[in-house]
Amino acid sequence: MMILYQANCQKKNENNNPATQTPLVEIPPSTEPTPTSHTPPKANSSNSNTASKAKTQPPRIALVIDDLGQAESSLVSRVCSLKVPITVAVLPFLSHTKENASLANTKGAEIILHMPMEPLGYPGPGKHPGEGAIFYSQTETEVRQNIARAMDNIPYAKGMNNHMGSRITPDRDRMAWILEEAKARKWYFLDSRTEKDTIGLEVARELGIPALERKIFLDDDPNPTEMHKQWERAMSLARQDGRVVIIGHIHPETVSFLEKVLPKASLEATFVKASALAR
Ligand SMILES: [Zn+2]
Repeated sequence: MMILYQANCQKKNENNNPATQTPLVEIPPSTEPTPTSHTPPKANSSNSNTASKAKTQPPRIALVIDDLGQAESSLVSRVCSLKVPITVAVLPFLSHTKENASLANTKGAEIILHMPMEPLGYPGPGKHPGEGAIFYSQTETEVRQNIARAMDNIPYAKGMNNHMGSRITPDRDRMAWILEEAKARKWYFLDSRTEKDTIGLEVARELGIPALERKIFLDDDPNPTEMHKQWERAMSLARQDGRVVIIGHIHPETVSFLEKVLPKASLEATFVKASALAR
């Protein structure tokens, strides 16, 4: 039970801080021109054909499920049966780490290492990032060794994202040590953005590592009404930017929610594995 508590990265001030969320207010209501604001297009205009073609490109969405490692096989199976490409992030060194990763791989999901890293507020209650974590006090050698061990612990992984990590991801030296190890394995990096001042994406780009960042946490509040709000934000952002990365967690409530919303959403957007949006 203790480990389960520690493994859950939805702790206050980690994911739940409004400052770490992409602000809603930046989303414009629509990028569509109003019908009266432009000269009507000429008949047979090739430009209008091109424009309508571009508009019909569906947005791309990567759906990542965090915190595998202790999950029941039945829940992992449900996640991987969602009928859209799924990426699962697996915590190392837990009771079901290898079993969860192998099952997800068998069922066609993409696997990434969910790397435990020190959060701000450690060692406060609920702030232990988990087994094999990166701590700020560790030397460069220790950080590189811990990353390599965790990488070795997750079968089939081809990338990683951070579990917690608000003390680590704003630190250039530590992120460079971590991401150089990712580069050596040709892994991609997904910045979970548990801290608004993270420089994970920036350092990854400098090192030439394919990278992407989380825009929406789906289930900080697992109440279906709240998840619906986050889902609508995600769809809106996807329409605006053409792409979005959503992170949810391996909770029964989240999986039930996704089972309900994905049939409709997959008509409006193209779901892809996270590696497809890394650049
Ligand atoms: Zn996590």
